[in-house]
Amino acid sequence: MFSQRIDRAREAMADRGVDVLLLSVGADLPYFCGYEAMPLERLTMLVVPRDGDVHLVVPHLEAPRVVERPEVFDLVTWRDGEDPIARVVDLVGGAATAAVGDQMWAGFLVDLGTACPTLSFTRASEVTAPLRMVKDADEVEALRRAGAAVDRILADVQAGQVPLVGRTEADVAAQIGRRILDEGHHRINFVIVASGPNAASPHHEPGGRVIGDGEGVLFDIGGTMAGPGDVGYCSDITRCVHIGPPPEGFAELYGVLHASQTAGVVEATVGTPCEDVDAAARRVIDDAGHGEHFVHRTGHGIGVEAHEHPNIVAGNELPLAVGHAFSVDPGIYVPGVWGARLEDSVGATADGPVAMNQIDHGLAVVDG
Ligand code: ZN
Ligand code: ZN
Repeated sequence: MFSQRIDRAREAMADRGVDVLLLSVGADLPYFCGYEAMPLERLTMLVVPRDGDVHLVVPHLEAPRVVERPEVFDLVTWRDGEDPIARVVDLVGGAATAAVGDQMWAGFLVDLGTACPTLSFTRASEVTAPLRMVKDADEVEALRRAGAAVDRILADVQAGQVPLVGRTEADVAAQIGRRILDEGHHRINFVIVASGPNAASPHHEPGGRVIGDGEGVLFDIGGTMAGPGDVGYCSDITRCVHIGPPPEGFAELYGVLHASQTAGVVEATVGTPCEDVDAAARRVIDDAGHGEHFVHRTGHGIGVEAHEHPNIVAGNELPLAVGHAFSVDPGIYVPGVWGARLEDSVGATADGPVAMNQIDHGLAVVDG
């Protein structure tokens, strides 16, 4: 699997005139070699020349965490006190153009540029994103499993099985975080619990606000679960509940949101440009007069990262292809008053869009 991915990367490198691919911190690394670097200051680097052997350069003390795959890469370790940049420069050889991981520390890039003044740099995502975007059947299955896990959690919230009133957002978020792990993820990526006016902030950080009766509460949760090759794949879902019957304005707003999210998913057929999916969801909200309150793109790709390509956004003319996986998550945010978002992860298939999240899309009314 990893060898095939590297072969495909090399084809893309040849097409783009890239001589060497340099991957460090970030999701490209596990995608191509099964190893995830700790986001620390010591250098880790997968060096993929267009021809020749692939090397994984890791700090000596991290070597026990590496699952060796001699058919994919040779392991090179360096010890504290040695110069890892010199090791990488040796492996880069006479390359003229290097594609570097988008999340590589700027410090490593500066040091590489100093050590190889004639080397020019481009973003690795130009090579890697087109490959990572198209999920194979095993990857889609991994996304479905992760999606089903977060479905079970928010289904319990919708059913009123998680007490809310009188608890802080942070307390509820901690409980949901534990459940994300209990449901089979190995990492919690985010747990947004946003009550009342806090839901008007799309990426609200759950805090000390005590959830009250008669309020809306937004839940946006996701984690990472092991998939093919033990590489992690992400879940991401948003649902809203209202404690007690919602006031008319909120019910109206949520109805618009629900129609918008449905319109986005229905539009997401193979061959449709990503920006058309954004437009389909946005039109419903615009037409209802809430356009100014929909302050972000309609969606983002999902896979090894919770946010990856393709973005469902105005200006992205990329046509959806079989295997693309992405969120459809319109939101309406009225500052200081309330907000709501509705999000599924969705896969593009030859038979049409298939949502990875299947639980009820309506505004659940709970007792609290
Ligand atoms: Zn989300
Ligand atoms: Zn999302």
